[in-house]
Amino acid sequence: MRFVLALDQGTTSSRAILFDKSGQIQSVAQKEFEQIYPNPGWVEHNPDEIWSTQIGTASEALGRAGVSASDVAAVGITNQRETTIIWDRETGEPIHNAIVWQDRRTSGICDRLKDQGHLDLFQEKTGLILDAYFSGTKIKWLLDNVDGARKRAENGELAFGTVDSWLVWNLTGGSRHVTDATNASRTLLYNIHEGEWDDELLDILDVPRPLLPEVEDSSAVYGETKVDAFGTSVPIGGIAGDQQAALFGQMCTSPGLGKNTYGTGAFMVQNTGQEAVTSENNLLTTIGYQLDDTTYYALEGSIFVAGAVVQWLRDELQIIRDAPEVEKLARKVDDNGGAYFVPAFTGLGAPHWDQYARGTIVGLTRGVNRNHLARAAIEGMAYQVADVIDAMEADSGIKTRELRADGGAAANDLLLQFQSDILDVPVIRPETLETTALGAAYLAGLAVGFWESQSEIKDQWELDKRFTPSMSPDRVETLRTGWSKAVERARAWEFPDDSESSQTTAGENGTTEETAASPS
Ligand code: ADP
Repeated sequence: MRFVLALDQGTTSSRAILFDKSGQIQSVAQKEFEQIYPNPGWVEHNPDEIWSTQIGTASEALGRAGVSASDVAAVGITNQRETTIIWDRETGEPIHNAIVWQDRRTSGICDRLKDQGHLDLFQEKTGLILDAYFSGTKIKWLLDNVDGARKRAENGELAFGTVDSWLVWNLTGGSRHVTDATNASRTLLYNIHEGEWDDELLDILDVPRPLLPEVEDSSAVYGETKVDAFGTSVPIGGIAGDQQAALFGQMCTSPGLGKNTYGTGAFMVQNTGQEAVTSENNLLTTIGYQLDDTTYYALEGSIFVAGAVVQWLRDELQIIRDAPEVEKLARKVDDNGGAYFVPAFTGLGAPHWDQYARGTIVGLTRGVNRNHLARAAIEGMAYQVADVIDAMEADSGIKTRELRADGGAAANDLLLQFQSDILDVPVIRPETLETTALGAAYLAGLAVGFWESQSEIKDQWELDKRFTPSMSPDRVETLRTGWSKAVERARAWEFPDDSESSQTTAGENGTTEETAASPS
């Protein structure tokens, strides 16, 4: 068998990518699906559409490569995290739309739990903060609001799953109700230290145990596909939430290795090995992956605006026509001309946590031109990532050895060089930027012996470019001091009682302090 098929079930689209044994992409298929907004702050997906688009893209990817399912050694799954689905075990019918990770309807439940003093308990056991993002309160909401659901859940008639579980259930014709440890670690119900659903947390959140899936390793044969789309049965061999899959796809498999995804926002995850590090800097502690019954932990921090600042330069300021042009402008000048750009358009995420911060450009003089602004915008992305990495190092005591980059803005050489300079750490860009799907493929391929070992994968992991630090420590310090001053200027710009509009803006963008904690 020559291929592994990765199913990449994202927030706005389902994708399927076929990889060969050397980790090269053979074909890609993608389908968007509907975003449903029944009320302000509510976001839903139709679970049947998640399934139909996902299985549709799987067939399409095979078709495009002219490959039959009998050539596929295993299927791997990576998914939008935390999104919650409950269905009937008998009929397979969902009892409600999926409640998506972005959905804020359970903020009130979280506030009440905090008022009752449960914050520390949840952080201690799950590594998470009490926030509507995570699955636990969404399950509670469904059981409390769908007619008869609680009773049926107690009777064992219903099944809960994150999107991975829902896909496995459907792929296996309803024979397997299972998830992996990375997805379980985003539910507020899973004790990440003990590796099991936690009765005390289930009790607090009113979630009956019969609802829950079995939790397995991230690389394991969960079952065989039983769907017409494949024609033959294929083992399902890997599952990981999207950010964790990217960590594995980047082969960040030892402590101190981390990856940052420079997309619309930026998502930093660092491997802390077999130790779950409790954050004192508002980062999340989470399961990075679980292999051979061994759990590997990670710290996670998210930044709201990264590549989006480049979109802003293009669409609002209109000083560039397309994203790559930002680098051309920035290269026309040697430095930022004294200008710092804090892109706190929707507040600041980790580690500053200020929902009332707003975008700020400081240090302007007569000589600052659009080239400097382009440069300051690129540098602003890198400073934010450096601030998160500092927080991670402070929490874990582990010095970052190198940073692996992916996401759309990782195409920008100037950004990655500057990142390396200010961190004094090498930054690596891999050949394949589809690291999320690749991670799912690796996990699946390892489970069935398509790849023998992690070292075989590491050998084929190809570097596109390595950026090494070349800036003097004095210069780094001057720049980072300037950035810190700029962040201070951006902070606490809006206040909740300043004006109604400030509150609305924060709400609409889902940018409360807590919402930002969990990139998906
Ligand atoms: P997402 O998955 O979050 O939608 P992507 O990983 O596709 O995002 O990355 C898209 C983002 O990357 C956009 O915000 C875009 O402005 C930015 N981007 C793309 N190319 C470049 C570039 N050469 N330099 C800087 N930013 C870029």
